[in-house]
Amino acid sequence: MGKALIIGCGGVASVAIHKCCQNSEVFEEIMIASRTKSKCDELKKKLDGGKTKIHTAKVDAVNVMDLISLINEFQPDVVLNLALPYQDLTIMEACLATKTDYVDTANYEPLDTAKFEYKWQWAYRERFEKAGITALLGSGFDPGVTGVFSAYALKHHFDEISNIDILDANGGDHGYPFATNFNPEINIREVTAKGSYWENGKWVETEPMEIKREYDFEGIGKKDMYLLHHEELESLALNIKGIKRIRFFMTFGQSYLTHLKCLENVGMTSIEPIEFDGKMIVPLQFLKAVLPDPASLGPRTKGKTNIGCIFTGKKDGTEKHYYLYNICDHQEAYAEVGSQAISYTTGVPAMIGAMLLLTGDWKKPGVHNIEEFDPDPFMDALNKWGLPWQESFSPVLVD
Ligand code: NDP
Repeated sequence: MGKALIIGCGGVASVAIHKCCQNSEVFEEIMIASRTKSKCDELKKKLDGGKTKIHTAKVDAVNVMDLISLINEFQPDVVLNLALPYQDLTIMEACLATKTDYVDTANYEPLDTAKFEYKWQWAYRERFEKAGITALLGSGFDPGVTGVFSAYALKHHFDEISNIDILDANGGDHGYPFATNFNPEINIREVTAKGSYWENGKWVETEPMEIKREYDFEGIGKKDMYLLHHEELESLALNIKGIKRIRFFMTFGQSYLTHLKCLENVGMTSIEPIEFDGKMIVPLQFLKAVLPDPASLGPRTKGKTNIGCIFTGKKDGTEKHYYLYNICDHQEAYAEVGSQAISYTTGVPAMIGAMLLLTGDWKKPGVHNIEEFDPDPFMDALNKWGLPWQESFSPVLVD
């Protein structure tokens, strides 16, 4: 059916690429590109021989002109951005210049400010619309599937939704005292930032990890979870009309939190450059270099993830609660595609988002968050491509 250019060849990209190759009717040809071409070549070697034709290239995605040349040479129907949030805008610029559809899994974040917001990418709405191309923002799990779940709940189960609690639990154990399960720099920037949630039309800010709750997760058991700011809160607050409160909770183990606090206290999580041995270095980037590569956690991680949304709202005048969630097993994910469940739960929806642009189901010129599209084909694809969802009509609520 079409061609996809995939930028990035890390944990998430590797899963998405495996899935594109499983879905060769849609992904006839792909090109994998990142700064380290050898990594792209290694993955190509592993996957070659199937029906999807694989190419590789070297590209630095901060360089718009290089991206434009690559797109012009390969002529993809869609660009799937699975590099880092810092490159979102340059890749969107290249898509505009070449009139190519765009998909990503994380919103733009400036390198020098640990602040992620949609405003920079939403500023492209009119230009994408005029160019007749679609940008699908946030097609991972959270953001991503959580937005699709919200649109699905509203479409099929509610007249109005007043509250959403997004619960992201990882019951996986990799045996290390401290490691992050996706890019350490992005992960630590996210969890050391202040928390916030949306209530009655405004943001309520909290100290990092200030709000803690315990929840009993199916497939995992009881876990402590903490309120974080998370990017989908911003778009869901706008797109789910009538919403009164949205919160996001993520589970963390005690060992992770103790190490993080210590690293923070000694200044290792700072993004302010410092001079070391006559050279400027960013402490957090140095820390990333000494931590285990998330890709290496795959064979060691046992347990499950459980990520989903609890909705409260009204149907036919009656209050109603509804919980939609997915349980993913780290070892099953590893056996299938050689990656743990965090990369799996992000890479599968990234492939699905790109697929729905290639098939034309989600073609809608402009820049859109995932909950703005019809959720039904995405929900069907989750069941088909390895992330089956479950539902409950009497969930335990979070106070
Ligand atoms: P990794 O660090 O494993 O991979 C990042 C990849 O991007 C590497 O292959 C890297 O290769 C490439 N890259 C980095 N900089 C550039 C550049 N300038 N030009 C071209 N390629 C570049 O990260 P993950 O796979 O863990 O995460 C990928 C994305 O997924 C991130 O944006 C992350 O925030 C997002 N994510 C989203 C989630 C969701 O649920 N929505 C959950 C988890 C992650 P090289 O250095 O060789 O260029």
